[in-house]
Amino acid sequence: MKTTETTGGSQRPLSLSDLNVNQLAARVSDLGAESYRVTQILDGAWRSVATSWGGVTTLGKPLQERLANEIRFSAFDEVERQEAEDGATTKLLLTLSDGAKVEAVLMRSPADPRRGSGPRATVCVSSQAGCAVGCPFCATGELGFTRNLSAGEIQDQVRIARQILRTEDRELTNVVYMGMGEPLQNIDAVFASIDGLTDPARGGIGQRRITVSTSGVVPGIERLAKQRPQITLAVSLHAARNPLRDLLVPLNRKWPVEAVIAAADSHSRATGRRTTYEVTMIDGINDRAEDSAALASLLRGSGAHVNLIPMNAVAHTPWQESKPERIEQIANQLRAAGLTVTVRRNRGREAGAACGQLAAEKAGAPTPIAVARRRELLLAASAAALQGQRTAQPIAPSGPLGGEA
Ligand code: SAH
Ligand code: SF4
Repeated sequence: MKTTETTGGSQRPLSLSDLNVNQLAARVSDLGAESYRVTQILDGAWRSVATSWGGVTTLGKPLQERLANEIRFSAFDEVERQEAEDGATTKLLLTLSDGAKVEAVLMRSPADPRRGSGPRATVCVSSQAGCAVGCPFCATGELGFTRNLSAGEIQDQVRIARQILRTEDRELTNVVYMGMGEPLQNIDAVFASIDGLTDPARGGIGQRRITVSTSGVVPGIERLAKQRPQITLAVSLHAARNPLRDLLVPLNRKWPVEAVIAAADSHSRATGRRTTYEVTMIDGINDRAEDSAALASLLRGSGAHVNLIPMNAVAHTPWQESKPERIEQIANQLRAAGLTVTVRRNRGREAGAACGQLAAEKAGAPTPIAVARRRELLLAASAAALQGQRTAQPIAPSGPLGGEA
């Protein structure tokens, strides 16, 4: 019989990456196996390309069978792969044991001799199935919230990425929590996953090579500074003025932009690490003169790094990416305010790779009526926000999981 656990309220079979080393040792001993088997198990999981207990040949058949009856080797029932950008990007659609689907994206970049950096491979992981924050330009926000991922479900996204890279003779260099979900609204599992990933027995990635991105959960930023000070913080800012940020990041109603910046500044002071701000550039919405001026004045002197990312168009919004010339102008305006700025290409667009898009497709489209209604509401709310009016209610997602559909 398979062992089950009750993470996040649902009964799911226990998977290997949900066990820390002590818990794994206890299980191995319960199975009557010797303690050196723990190392063999972890090596098989993290240093080979095995996808099942049967692939960990060092264990021998009887133990493989006993383990298979007790513990799932992988957190995922299904792994669907899509390649994009001539193989530079691999998008993974992962089915969890309860049928929920999440995405992880593996991005490879060549060495850059000018900056003295070697080849990089970054995996972008999901921390939740869906997301409760509901940013209207985001495909995940549109899906609504399904559930938190467990620490093992997060780590196994990295494990699969490592296995893919191993077959190419490449190393994983960075992990970013920028997939589906708001990591700081699942902070205990996210911290436990960081502890697992930095464990030398499980790949041992350096804490400084891990970035957590948040839409602005202030208490979470404070905990990150105190409890995991080596981790890089990225803040999804999108707008410097509250009326517009209320619309683009509904969490702004709870923690307004001043509180988010104050928390990020104190994170930076406490940890000595520079904050990265992410701004998704939306044509005619957050790229107008008053917004770029407000952004420059808000961040002036902070020493922060700003990533300007053209919005990936998603079906339910009336919005498009900003014009490249406008993004360049804003980048220069921010540089003049003493900030370092990167204009990002939107990785994996060919595979529909922006946050949650693939999973949203699989979940089925919301009805055309719901989409049309949503677009109308967004147009009205953005017109009001651009005039400086703060609206009382966030706009509910149009479904398929989130509401009106
Ligand atoms: N919830 C966290 C982390 C995951 S989202 C956060 O919001 O920070 C990761 C990044 O993708 C965020 O900066 C988000 O704003 C961005 N993003 C979401 N939808 C996008 C879209 N349609 N186009 C471009 N960037 C998008
Ligand atoms: Fe959630 Fe981030 Fe998408 Fe906003 S942008 S809905 S916080 S995943």
